[in-house]
Amino acid sequence: MKHPVGHRARKRFGQNFLQDEHVIRRIIRSIHPQPGQHLVEIGPGLGALTEELLEACGELDVVELDRDLIPVLRTQFFRYEERFRIHQADALKFDFTQLAEDSRPLRIVGNLPYNISTPLIFHLLSHSGLIEDMHFMLQKEVVDRLAAQPGESAYGRLGIMAQYRCRVEPLFVVSPHAFHPQPKVDSAIVRLVPYADLPLKARNEADLEQLVRAAFSMRRKTLRNNLKPLLPAAEIEALNIDPGIRPERLSLESFVALADAFSRHKESDTR
Ligand code: SAM
Repeated sequence: MKHPVGHRARKRFGQNFLQDEHVIRRIIRSIHPQPGQHLVEIGPGLGALTEELLEACGELDVVELDRDLIPVLRTQFFRYEERFRIHQADALKFDFTQLAEDSRPLRIVGNLPYNISTPLIFHLLSHSGLIEDMHFMLQKEVVDRLAAQPGESAYGRLGIMAQYRCRVEPLFVVSPHAFHPQPKVDSAIVRLVPYADLPLKARNEADLEQLVRAAFSMRRKTLRNNLKPLLPAAEIEALNIDPGIRPERLSLESFVALADAFSRHKESDTR
C-alpha cells in the first residue's frame, strides 16, 4: 500500500488517491502502455499510475489542476527530465490539440475527479479525431451510463454521444477500499475507443447533439413532446418511429435518423 504522506486530499479537486497495488497493476495491464506511444494522464495526483506509465513509455504528458502537487510530481519524476511534461491546467479547458502536433494519436488515461467526469468526457469526445483510446476510472454509475443500451434506466445523452463516437468497453469494478480517502460509491474502469470511421454518421453532428439533448430534456415525456420545438410529429412518424414512445427506448440508429430529419427540416425552412 502506498501512503500519500505530506498532502492532504482535497475534496474540491475530487482527490481520491489509488492505493491498492493490485488494482494499479490491473489498470496498467488494461492500458498496456508501450514505448513510442503518446500517453496523456489527466489528474496524476501523487503519481499512483504515473510511475508505471512513465516506466513503460519513457515519456508522458500530464494535466493536473492542483498547483500544490506540481513540485511533488517534478521531484518524484525528476530523472525523466523533459520527457515528463507537466501541464498545470484545468483539463476541462485544456486544448488537447496542442499535444497532438507530432501526429501520434493520443492515448488518454486517468483516475478522473468524479465531480467533472461527465463534462470532461464530452470535452474529450469533441477531440476524438486525435485520440487512439481512453482508459478512465469513473464512478461505476457513470460507466453504466456510458455503456447503457436502449430500454435501460441508465440510457441517455452521455451513452448515446459516447457510443456515437466510440466503442465503449466496461472493464472491471473497483471497490472504495482501493482509495485514500475512500469514496462513498463503487468505481469502474472503462475503455473508450474512438471509431476511425463512424459506423453511423449524422449529416450534421451539432444537430445530433441538439436533438439528443432535447429528446432527454424531460425523461418522462414522449418524444413528440420533447422534440416539439425541433421536429413535427408527422416527420417523426415518417421515419417509422412512434412519436408516443419515451426517448430511452430509441436506438442510436433512430437518433441519427431523427437528427438527419431535423437537419433536412431546418434546411427546407431556410430555403
Ligand atoms: N491519479 C491519481 C490516483 O489515481 O491516485 C489521482 C486521482 S484523483 C481521483 C483526481 C486527480 O485529478 C487529482 O490529482 C486532482 O487534483 C486532479 N484534478 C481535479 N480536477 C482537475 C481538473 N479540472 N483538471 C485536471 N486535473 C484535475
